Amino acid sequence: MAKCPLCGNSLDWGELIEQMLKLENAAEVMKNREKFMETFEGFVFKCPHCGEEFYGKNLPAKEAEKVFELLNEFRGSIDWENGKVRLRLNSLLALDTMLEKWDEKMRG
Ligand SMILES: [Zn+2]
Repeated sequence: MAKCPLCGNSLDWGELIEQMLKLENAAEVMKNREKFMETFEGFVFKCPHCGEEFYGKNLPAKEAEKVFELLNEFRGSIDWENGKVRLRLNSLLALDTMLEKWDEKMRG
């Protein structure tokens, strides 16, 4: 799970992406994986708990990639008019991790 590198509190991916939606080229960024990862890593996020700022590269890249996939997989995942993410990204990520572990177990 994504945690603030400064205070250690859990971060909500929906909230993090919403910070990125304020970018002028957000619509373009959200559609292109390479551009998304590059922008994500260099983006300055603000922690809603401690108010400190940090770069996206301090967050798990694997989760960021999954978030990109989820946002592109579901139609209407982003409410562009209000700059909101409609998906519960943290729940979906948790579910995805669970399924991956289950899959590994089954393959033994
Ligand atoms: Zn913090």
